Amino acid sequence: MRLLLVEDDMMLGKSLQQALQAQHYVVDWVQTGLSALAALQAEHFDLAIMDLGLPGLDGIRVIEEVRAQQMPLPILILTARDSVQDRVKGLDAGADDYLLKPFDLSELFARLRALGRRNSGVTAVNELRFGAIVLDTANHHASYQGAAVTLSRREFLLLEALLNRPGQVFTRQQLEQSLYGWGEEVESNALEVHIHHLRKKFYNGLIQTVRGVGYRLNPETEE
Ligand code: CA
Repeated sequence: MRLLLVEDDMMLGKSLQQALQAQHYVVDWVQTGLSALAALQAEHFDLAIMDLGLPGLDGIRVIEEVRAQQMPLPILILTARDSVQDRVKGLDAGADDYLLKPFDLSELFARLRALGRRNSGVTAVNELRFGAIVLDTANHHASYQGAAVTLSRREFLLLEALLNRPGQVFTRQQLEQSLYGWGEEVESNALEVHIHHLRKKFYNGLIQTVRGVGYRLNPETEE
């Protein structure tokens, strides 16, 4: 899943970005409200973590703007403002959850997983299924017909994106955005290579090429 981190504290931002990357999120980190809005308008994100006290446009205003534009993005507020009023304001503005600083990383991860589940096709807790394929999104474990399948980080992210929306045809750009953050170099055939590997590791018909459009899970092969 691709996550936008909005945090102006440089030390916290950097350490959070690293911790989230270690949890297999693709993380883009911005430090101001305006750059958060610009990022959200330019690219697709699955989740956002939003600090409230930001230079210029503050977090509440960003959330209001995101909702005014009807973006379905789940937003978790991460803030040191601990008055009930601030929390109420944040949730009323359209945030989905909040966590107070200082916080425990394991709680942050659990809340992000819960938000991710709400917006996706996850059936059981932290589990995505397509036929005999099971992805455990909390433990980053994949299996097919009960046997473990070893996936690279990006193969896992790609399969997760596809399994989250099993009926959808994805453009190449949409899939690349779910695999790479800004500044990460995307080699021109990287996506094809990941798809090739997934077809080999599961079965050949799993991912269908939709000519001129992109890719999707092939529903007829759900086995
Ligand atoms: Ca701040």
